[in-house]
Amino acid sequence: MSHPFTWVPAAWQRHASRDPVPPPAAEFPRGVVVSTLCGQEVTSASGELAWLWGTCPDCDDVTREIVGVPSRAETAAEGRGRS
Ligand SMILES: [Zn+2]
Repeated sequence: MSHPFTWVPAAWQRHASRDPVPPPAAEFPRGVVVSTLCGQEVTSASGELAWLWGTCPDCDDVTREIVGVPSRAETAAEGRGRS
């Protein structure tokens, strides 16, 4: 296990969730209610098209925090602040 969250396409966005994925799958099956890192309860979707949905910006921020990567906003701010 690399990170304590799973990306899940739902509600026309790609969200991340800390809910446990039912084994042995590596991602949520279709139709599961999932709590996302942005504080929503959504029903998971599946299929190639669903994975093309845009990344939820709030989930993106939280996962970057978990992984220890600066958020996109912080990266932009640092770029402006340093010479
Ligand atoms: Zn989200």
